Amino acid sequence: MLVILKPDATAEDLERVLGRIESLGGAAEVHRPRQILLAVRGADINPQTLVAMSGVETVQPSAPGYWLASRRAHPEDTVVRVRGRSVGGDHPPVLIAGPCAVETEDQLMRSAEAALEAGAQMLRGGAYKPRTSPYSFQGLGEEGLAMLARVRERLGVPIVTEMRDAATLELFQQYDMDVIQIGARNMQNYEILRRAGKAGRPVLLKRGPATSVEEWLMAAEYVLLAGNPDVILCERGVLPPASVATRYQLDIAAIPIVRRLSHLPVIADPSHAAGARDLVVPLAQAAIAAGAQGLLVEVHAEPCQALCDGRQALEPGQARALMENLRRHGYVPEPAPAASGLVGARVIDWRPS
Ligand code: PEP
Ligand code: MN
Repeated sequence: MLVILKPDATAEDLERVLGRIESLGGAAEVHRPRQILLAVRGADINPQTLVAMSGVETVQPSAPGYWLASRRAHPEDTVVRVRGRSVGGDHPPVLIAGPCAVETEDQLMRSAEAALEAGAQMLRGGAYKPRTSPYSFQGLGEEGLAMLARVRERLGVPIVTEMRDAATLELFQQYDMDVIQIGARNMQNYEILRRAGKAGRPVLLKRGPATSVEEWLMAAEYVLLAGNPDVILCERGVLPPASVATRYQLDIAAIPIVRRLSHLPVIADPSHAAGARDLVVPLAQAAIAAGAQGLLVEVHAEPCQALCDGRQALEPGQARALMENLRRHGYVPEPAPAASGLVGARVIDWRPS
């Protein structure tokens, strides 16, 4: 059971509620700082005995393990702002694009230019790559963060990059990385989630390939509970049955489901779901049609030379074609302003009736 106190509840209100819970044989854990949440255990307490107390906003007898991420707690859409770009709400879908990994400054710069020419509003590239094999390219580490910071200087584009290990948070802050990605493998790494909650910058939280929508929202709850309200959820495909030919299976239904359950913006990554560049465009279309508020797409200046995920990276011309395709299908109006993202895209009405 969760007891949520009003933002203006006093210390006396909190003491009285804690006292009542204890007098009924229960125990409560207090969670700050965003809102006071009491997780109540150990007793069969009737919620009605708490709900009318001074300072209590609501009692959730069967909270699904998340509250701050839920639409019940926050009926309006959250809009995450990153250096003047907006993700979520009724804002048109954003395009976040770039190479899987930062390899060299020249490769990063040329891939970034290709992404921006296609209309990307944010540049994404990994300096720390979580790889299945320890022999695969692991990323340039701090040198990669420095390159990302320099390319941002030159092109004026915000950076999204993955934090693979909680111990590197200070470096991400030092290089002022704009958005911290938490990769699919780390979605349930609770230390990273808590640290990202104190990072003072937005978090892009990928869904683990073997996790439910509820587990994904509980992961977001860790970040929100630690004090960071700016979480962007990213659907990147779940484990496919053997009969499915793609790398993962983009869970299209999860997009409207999450938008119903949560106020947080949700974007889709068709690149990792597909694992093959020729499937990126149709999956991107499907995701936006289902209500995705943005796309995360891998774009590389020379995919055949890529050290990581080259098969799924769009070539520069294909990245432009992706935009043209979305425009042709009505997701982006004619004429699209140059290099400003999917401005004016059709906004899908996803709201539950
Ligand atoms: C990535 O974003 O490059 C990546 C490794 O993706 P995921 O965490 O979804 O596997
Ligand atoms: Mn990748």
